[in-house]
Amino acid sequence: MSSIADNIGSVTRRIQKATLKAGRDPGSVRLLAVSKTRQPDELRVAANAGQVAFGENYLQEALDKIEALKDLDQIEWHFIGPIQSNKTRQIAEMFAWVHSVDRLKIARRLSEQRPPGFPPLNLCLQVNINDEDSKSGCTLSELPELVDEIGDLPNVKLRGLMAIPDPDQSEADLRMSFRKLANTLRELKRASPEAGPMDTLSMGMSDDLEIAIAEGATWVRVGTALFGARPSKHSQS
Ligand SMILES: *Cc1c(COP(=O)(O)O)cnc(C)c1O
Repeated sequence: MSSIADNIGSVTRRIQKATLKAGRDPGSVRLLAVSKTRQPDELRVAANAGQVAFGENYLQEALDKIEALKDLDQIEWHFIGPIQSNKTRQIAEMFAWVHSVDRLKIARRLSEQRPPGFPPLNLCLQVNINDEDSKSGCTLSELPELVDEIGDLPNVKLRGLMAIPDPDQSEADLRMSFRKLANTLRELKRASPEAGPMDTLSMGMSDDLEIAIAEGATWVRVGTALFGARPSKHSQS
């Protein structure tokens, strides 16, 4: 378990190197530690090594860890999994960011259920960038209307887009998928400048974070390279 701290160091160096190579500002790419299936003690080791942002996919599992780690008040919790509409209240109450919003109903409920006095909940729209039927996410054509509607909601802040491209495509195609997401964000921001800061691209994972950073990622979501391989029954994408 002590190697989690080493892994944070090496992933951080990968991010710095890719950021530099892309000619981007150091610090413009943040590391989201994807901690699904991991035990609270593993997250605690990562937090003690300086990791701040943790991403969880399953609500009940996340709530158990949030409770177990509530003494670590520097942790910033991100929800990155599929969202059922009957689960939005706890997400609105316990998380700082949601990367996986793919329909208006969910965004509306998160805004309504954000507790009074909390800062706006940061949202990314998850885009089905390779148009695979099996994956969650909205289509590119749904985005303009969604952005305008979510931009009007009072207690959420529209930060940008998230995608999980098909990992089985060639490196060149993967790069084009990331580029498409970046171009889409730019167009949406131009078309709807009032909708929110739209400063965020959540893209890139353990195996492809360098490509994602070269194409403009601002959050890379990394699980395996920090915590090791997951048990296969829970592993996703
Ligand atoms: C599991 C997961 C990741 C992390 O994937 P790794 O390949 O383990 O780095 C990133 N994003 C989402 C949405 C995930 O579900």
